[in-house]
Amino acid sequence: MQHYQKRVLVTGGAGFLGSHLCERLVAAGCDVLCVDNLFTGTKANISHLIPKTNFEFMRHDVTFPLYVEMDEIYNLACPASPIHYQFDPVQTTKTSVHGAINMLGLAKRTKAKIFQASTSEVYGDPQVHPQTEDYWGHVNPTGYRACYDEGKRCAETLFFDYRRQHSLRIKVARIFNTYGPRMHPNDGRVVSNFIVQALKGAPITVFGNGDQSRSFCYVEDLVTAFIRLMDTADDFPGPVNLGNPGEFTILELAETVIRLTGSKSEIVFKPLPQDDPLQRQPDIRLAREKLGWEPTIGLEEGLTRTIAYFESII
Ligand code: NAD
Ligand code: UDP
Repeated sequence: MQHYQKRVLVTGGAGFLGSHLCERLVAAGCDVLCVDNLFTGTKANISHLIPKTNFEFMRHDVTFPLYVEMDEIYNLACPASPIHYQFDPVQTTKTSVHGAINMLGLAKRTKAKIFQASTSEVYGDPQVHPQTEDYWGHVNPTGYRACYDEGKRCAETLFFDYRRQHSLRIKVARIFNTYGPRMHPNDGRVVSNFIVQALKGAPITVFGNGDQSRSFCYVEDLVTAFIRLMDTADDFPGPVNLGNPGEFTILELAETVIRLTGSKSEIVFKPLPQDDPLQRQPDIRLAREKLGWEPTIGLEEGLTRTIAYFESII
């Protein structure tokens, strides 16, 4: 019988970030169980891992309990794109809250260490810039983004209460906009939207006047940070910002995508969605200090790799 280093559960493992994480953990020799209900994830994202003896896929919804034996849990299950998380907002909150309760219960029973994929959305439309971990945020609790933002905030609360009440080993990451290969072509997020539109010669849809900013991290850098965070000492629960501090307006992003694809697409301006944050940039001093980590892949290089991926699938 083959023995692997450790048994690792990845919820949401067939999604964009989850599939890259599974790939990295499988390559590192972990025994990986990928759990996903395939709401936004796909089997294609993990098809290359299926033949590996240290990879297993289970179709399961994390809002229901799960009984497996694990050493580490990465809890990523939750749709991340606004159009997908707003499609069934009640299910989105259930996924974050019931999903967290179920995975924390599993961690408690098996004494596993558990990682939560939280988000920069816990800062809402921030009044502090760049955002540091001690900022409590500016979130509309009744708006269209609340199912996601408040679900993720409540999940953080649950993680910290399980730590205080049950001495669980937790790791909370606040992820800022991340992009790369295996984003769903109809995902609705800005990087995939712009690249797909540019490659098809369709109009590039900038919401609002494009002055709003985001800071974009390439997926490979982010996954490195996930694993470093999981490996930090037990007395470091986070939360810790993970993202690339390079900040760009959405209009700059559109222009860069047009230039890198050599597209003839025109930019068209559409109404700005409700509660769309005006600016976002992570302060990553804590990640630098605690994880010895910072992103290494700049926007142009990351976009070039992502464009190559979308060219191959469109
Ligand atoms: P994604 O939509 O590609 O992946 C989410 C995965 O979770 C999908 O495979 C989906 O099928 C699965 N899922 C959804 N509901 C589920 C449920 N109830 N039970 C089981 N599986 C379920 O999105 P992503 O970008 O890979 O995001 C992964 C995680 O990271 C999410 O928790 C998201 O909130 C967080 N995050 C991502 C970003 C980003 O920029 N990509 C930013 C902040 C936070
Ligand atoms: N956006 C845009 N055009 C699109 C999709 C998104 O201008 O086709 C804008 C959106 O309004 C937001 C930014 O790009 O200001 C990032 O949107 P995304 O949905 O990727 O992520 P989030 O708003 O959650 O950061």
